[in-house]
Amino acid sequence: MSATHVFHRSLLSTPPVAVKGEGVWLEDASGKRYIDASGGAAVSCLGHGHPDVLEAMHRQLDALAYAHTSFFTTEVAEQLADQLVRTAPAGMSHAYFVSGGSEAVEAALKMARQYYLEIGQPERSHFIARRQSYHGNTLGALAVGGNAWRRKQFAPLLVDVTHVSPCYPYRDMHPGETPEAYGQRLAQELDETIQRVGPNKVLAFVAETVGGATAGVLVPVPGYFKAVREVCDKHGVLLILDEVMCGMGRTGTLHACEQDGVAPDLMTIAKGLGGGYQPIGAVLAQQKIVEAMSKGSGFFQHGHTYLGHAVACAAALTVQQVIERDGLLSKVQRDAARIEALLQDRFGNHPHVGDIRGRGFFWGVELVQDRASKAPFDPARRLHAKVKSAAFARGLLVYPMGGTVDGQYGDHILLAPPFITSEDELTQIVARLADAV
Ligand code: PMP
Repeated sequence: MSATHVFHRSLLSTPPVAVKGEGVWLEDASGKRYIDASGGAAVSCLGHGHPDVLEAMHRQLDALAYAHTSFFTTEVAEQLADQLVRTAPAGMSHAYFVSGGSEAVEAALKMARQYYLEIGQPERSHFIARRQSYHGNTLGALAVGGNAWRRKQFAPLLVDVTHVSPCYPYRDMHPGETPEAYGQRLAQELDETIQRVGPNKVLAFVAETVGGATAGVLVPVPGYFKAVREVCDKHGVLLILDEVMCGMGRTGTLHACEQDGVAPDLMTIAKGLGGGYQPIGAVLAQQKIVEAMSKGSGFFQHGHTYLGHAVACAAALTVQQVIERDGLLSKVQRDAARIEALLQDRFGNHPHVGDIRGRGFFWGVELVQDRASKAPFDPARRLHAKVKSAAFARGLLVYPMGGTVDGQYGDHILLAPPFITSEDELTQIVARLADAV
């Protein structure tokens, strides 16, 4: 293709044309095949072209594609909400549908704000979030996102936020400190920050349960989120967990926070919810938030044209049913150890691999100049981009980022393969990656 009128992300080059997807493989117009080892951006949990999902989408399309939610609900939206609430963390009673991750975060921020307006605490308008986090690219989500580099050029942003430390043991745990003590120290920082801002001004703490795109899979230390939950409860601050990337089975349990023993007040999900078959996301909300709104103004002052789109709901419902029916969460749990062993085998002693970390089918490999000092590569070298191209040339899709952690460190590779990836395909992924690195 010589000329393009699509406004591509890079205005300097046109990417290859993708024409086909089957299982964990994508094919371009030249016939070259790629293993989708990042599920796009941690999206394709069932891989591409899953027959059950396609059939359900076709059936829904034949019956009804779209009916605006100001007039109607649909059976499939009701079924999907039932499924999500049945499997949600304790106390979550409703699912609010949107079209993607950033929209889910925007809706959650507004829900939190409206909750406090409804219960007569309008002065609560300040959010606490974490550095080295990503919550989306719309202006509210960007404001809570903890990446100064992304925010800087678009300031002033729309939401009042203070950022605290992420849970990043590889970089920030002190020598000799136990993971539990580190988690407590972070919770104490949150406590002190809330006190400094003014406990009656803070409405919510926003965090990815397992950090994703910004720093290459940040797994919380044991006890961290329980301690965070206690601090939030002490000050009447809502806990909003963003599981857009780490949720919907990616870490081996349906919701990552199940492994941390906490239930949030609001939770955002997207990506793996629809598995890439349709754009869809949702906010799961605790009963008390929905009740406050229904007893108060009676509606949520928000809404998008395509929320609850029937074909998107059909796709998501089927994706979730297939995950349950085929026992894919158990497969992810079983094969997690295999991925870790493969990565350790190839990269455990690699001079430029500082850390290998992850849960389930969600793994990060952090690249450093040298293992002892953990010194990052100069961001200007754009090492992650070089790894991505080298992998791409070898028919491997990985999701690298770099220089995005406030411009300091951050060359990393993120692996998030579809849950259906076979043992042989996992071996191929890590072998091709080792070759690329
Ligand atoms: N939150 C998290 C944790 C994400 O990883 C992302 C996307 N990478 C988003 C929100 C935004 O989602 P979307 O790109 O669908 O708007």
